[in-house]
Amino acid sequence: MKTKYYDFQEIIDEVQLDEIIKAYKDGEVIAFPTETVYGLGANIYNDQAIKKIYRAKNRPADNPLIAHIGNMEQLYKLVEEIPEKAQILIDTFWPGPLTIIFKKNKEISEVATAGLETLGVRMPDHLVIETILVKGDLILVAPSANISGSPSPTTMKHVADDLDGLVYGIIDGGNCDEGIESTIVDMTGDNPVILRPGTITREDLEEEIGKVEIDESLLGASTKIARAPGMKYKHYAPNAKVHILKNRGDLDLILKKIKSLDVDLNKCALINFDENIEHYRKLEIPNKIILGSIVDLRVGIRNLFRILRDCDILGIEHIFIEDYKEEGLGFSYMNRLKKAANHNYLKES
Ligand code: AMP
Ligand code: MG
Repeated sequence: MKTKYYDFQEIIDEVQLDEIIKAYKDGEVIAFPTETVYGLGANIYNDQAIKKIYRAKNRPADNPLIAHIGNMEQLYKLVEEIPEKAQILIDTFWPGPLTIIFKKNKEISEVATAGLETLGVRMPDHLVIETILVKGDLILVAPSANISGSPSPTTMKHVADDLDGLVYGIIDGGNCDEGIESTIVDMTGDNPVILRPGTITREDLEEEIGKVEIDESLLGASTKIARAPGMKYKHYAPNAKVHILKNRGDLDLILKKIKSLDVDLNKCALINFDENIEHYRKLEIPNKIILGSIVDLRVGIRNLFRILRDCDILGIEHIFIEDYKEEGLGFSYMNRLKKAANHNYLKES
């Protein structure tokens, strides 16, 4: 299939917009920009179209997608009820990087929810996708627009690298502001539970609705039974092996590891915070990449997946990357990093 490219970075072309809306309605899958990461969307009411997403991404069939809506009327079409606290979250955080899990209603097919009785919904905060959803009166289900397991795409080029030739179209809306996927909070039980941390933190949610739990599988090791199917799969991993360093990692330990790996220094990369450049000055690795500043982790989070993908393009085989305190945004950063590294910490063995 020859993938069509739409450049909506500067303006949204009306003719192309109509073409995209028609294609979605005809059952095509098209990648779109959002404020979190790029999504690969299909019409929620077209099971055949949804199946194309799973094929293109090579995504396990029991890993559910998220419904993307442009207004509240569309939410009423999807769910049985809106719990009181969910309404507060909607009023506070939508449009924005928060996915809320609801009980789905009968009109939503099993294909759309990967067999679950629940449906994750969010209203993205990005003019391009908002315009498509509202003007086309479309509800699109979407996962991230990457091959399953690889780091999520935060630029059009990332999507093209993974999915060119495999999808009908790709819309360029520039670089994603947030850089990691939405926070997911399950509002179907007695207590709200975070299933995936994002740039809206537990603390942000608790300020609005009181106590919010964190799913057990996000704490400790990765062996706990995953509550949502999607939580159990390999995720965010570049080709390179990732080693997590303590903040201001031990230079001798890094060198010892590189020696034991018997790898060319040119095939190693160090990814560290801006403030620690001096600390690593003596480490003779040619590829040193700045993640962002320690005092504003949002920048590091925005850059993380792009840098992991850049390392693959450079042919890097081993990545050494600094950790962060697992609190607030640091919890979300470490969630992605630990998965990318398959929980591999650099330590004295
Ligand atoms: P992605 O953004 O590519 O990770 O795909 C969407 C993710 O949302 C899935 O991996 C699931 O973890 C999560 N998700 C979607 N719907 C549900 C649901 N009904 N219950 C729990 N998690 C969900
Ligand atoms: Mg994904």
